[in-house]
Amino acid sequence: MTERNATSADIRVDVHDPSSLTTYQRDQLRARTCAAGCGSRQLTHDGGYAYVRSGTEGARLGYAVRVCHNCLPLEGSS
Ligand SMILES: [Zn+2]
Repeated sequence: MTERNATSADIRVDVHDPSSLTTYQRDQLRARTCAAGCGSRQLTHDGGYAYVRSGTEGARLGYAVRVCHNCLPLEGSS
């Protein structure tokens, strides 16, 4: 039985409810910890955006998040 651990999930996979964000997720949104959920604080690259619901129905706020070296998506050239 596989269970997804909420404290180590990729912040970018969903639109989050601001009232149910954990401290860990807030750190991810503020680019203090890796957006991919590995827990690293050595963030070296932009990780795109994570989203949180905002006020009215359907509205959302985007946060520019960052990822560590290990969680970098593989790109063509180096
Ligand atoms: Zn990482």
